[in-house]
Amino acid sequence: MDEISASALKESFESSEDDIWVPDLSHVSWSNRDFLGWIHPSGHLGYVVLISPQDGSLKGVVMRRLLRSSTRVRLDMCCLCHHVHRLDGTAMFTVTEKGSRGRRTIANVVCKDLDCSLRLRNLAEPGSLMTETLYPEAKIWRMQKTLHRWLTRAKYL
Ligand SMILES: [Zn+2]
Repeated sequence: MDEISASALKESFESSEDDIWVPDLSHVSWSNRDFLGWIHPSGHLGYVVLISPQDGSLKGVVMRRLLRSSTRVRLDMCCLCHHVHRLDGTAMFTVTEKGSRGRRTIANVVCKDLDCSLRLRNLAEPGSLMTETLYPEAKIWRMQKTLHRWLTRAKYL
């Protein structure tokens, strides 16, 4: 995606701008991002900004983030980029359906730092525990489709 300023990122959310925390963007490699995701320092919130497939506008979505902990050895796959993590590499991200006043939510298991775009390009460590023989373009398409479907169901797109 193209570079986006901090103020444009904030404006893409419908909630009041003061509630949106935006990190230092100087190190973001925009060309390697299909959407921008980041985590609030508290760890309880995730933010996703993407380009709407409907009208090309920027859409920001706030998600609740719940880290998954288990004492058992377990593998987890991110539903967006299909990266397979060991133990604590994923988190449960919950989106509240717009207009439902918090009554309806849709949750998915996603890479805990929302850095799926980097993982698809093998730019984030550790690597996936499952190797896929799929073209990067196809992985990006699949990720976009899953993200769009999720956020369309929650009435954000
Ligand atoms: Zn992922």
